[in-house]
Amino acid sequence: MTTDVTEQPPIGHHFDWGNLPAKQQPTWSDAEALDQAVARLKGFPPLVFAGECDVLREKLGAVARGEAFLLQGGDCAETLEGVTGPNIRNRIKTILQMAVVLTYGAGMPVVKVGRLAGQFAKPRSSDTETRDGVTLPAYRGDMVNGFEFSPEARAHNPARMVDVYHASSSTLNLVRAFTSGGYADLRSVHTWNKGFLSSPAQARYEQMATEIDRAVRFLEASGVADAEELRRVEFYSSHEALVLDYERALTRRDSRTGLPYNTSGHFIWAGERTRDLDGAHIDFLSRVHNPIGVKLGPTATRDDVLGLLDKLDPERTPGRLTFITRMGADKIRDLLPPLLESVGEEAGKVAWVCDPMHGNTFASPSGHKTRRFEDVIDEVAGFFEVHRALGTWPGGIHIELTGNDVTECVGGSGALDVQDLGLRYETVCDPRLNHQQSLDMAFQVAAMLEAGR
Ligand code: PEP
Ligand code: MN
Repeated sequence: MTTDVTEQPPIGHHFDWGNLPAKQQPTWSDAEALDQAVARLKGFPPLVFAGECDVLREKLGAVARGEAFLLQGGDCAETLEGVTGPNIRNRIKTILQMAVVLTYGAGMPVVKVGRLAGQFAKPRSSDTETRDGVTLPAYRGDMVNGFEFSPEARAHNPARMVDVYHASSSTLNLVRAFTSGGYADLRSVHTWNKGFLSSPAQARYEQMATEIDRAVRFLEASGVADAEELRRVEFYSSHEALVLDYERALTRRDSRTGLPYNTSGHFIWAGERTRDLDGAHIDFLSRVHNPIGVKLGPTATRDDVLGLLDKLDPERTPGRLTFITRMGADKIRDLLPPLLESVGEEAGKVAWVCDPMHGNTFASPSGHKTRRFEDVIDEVAGFFEVHRALGTWPGGIHIELTGNDVTECVGGSGALDVQDLGLRYETVCDPRLNHQQSLDMAFQVAAMLEAGR
């Protein structure tokens, strides 16, 4: 059923892309190298197909209607070096484990979307970084420059976009192999737990996996579920559509309909810093037919929300638009209700998802950027409370996580302390939940979903 995307020319030149203000863009110094990189990207095959994006849009339509829950997670910033088999496998296993816990708790479908295979560019609050009196361009993600603090690494290099394409392609290849090649088979729920540090959440998962195993065997034995259905899991890719040179070059027309799709990922979103109604990013999102998201932080107004809705989803297509709120645990209960009310009846036409990470970041005494697990949970709790009070559907969670046992966020059942942050702090951008904290979170969110049934 999936449709190929033609090798027709990318749509870039059909539109007057260049004239709108585009925030957070690289300042490539070598125009020729940029032309070369863009030409190569335009010639590469699509990473995802239009038909897959359409299926995801339908699934997100179910989320908008309150019939499904979205789990979206992955690194804050992927790195080229981090594209390894074990890293990808651990992240996928973690997301699959979380999805199983949520599905079991909620008793409804969980739509699984990774922040991966394209999440290589970061918006920054400052263009530069100063260390010991030396000022260099800020790190903007491996798509733009290198993390190392040297003039060479920090120069904006367009050839990196080509590297990112290949890294995304190999990431997606492994994800597709895992999710359709039998690894994600529901009869393997136990095996996803293997290889991680033991923890209370692990033990709890193990118990749940045993129950699921029994249920699955029962369904199989009674002929209700067929083996092929259990073998596959649908898993989608997503990232922030930030660097427009990359995103535009990978935008193609679908051979079936002639409509443009961004083929760099199934779902793309505009971040808090680039969601201006009259800016280039929102214009770009308005032109592609992928399911799309927009982050809404504490400064978002009713007018912003209504303007975005009209511009990005004028026909109110279920699943087309997802609002991802990231207010902060101390603000969500005050700031979310007016936004939901402004949309009124139409609140049910879009999916509302909670990013409990980006409003809860602080610096530890050691200087590490961190987040408290308890704040993250509290923001999700506030998100559920507000939606339940207003009769709208708390459609999902968007989180930064890794399958590795890093020490980047504090708290959780492992009671990670601020003093431990230096032990294994590996992120190049924002702090992520580690495997155990991610599983802890899934159990807590499952309980919130269960409480509403
Ligand atoms: C992010 O998702 O990593 C991010 C930068 O978020 P936001 O745009 O919400 O600040
Ligand atoms: Mn982040």
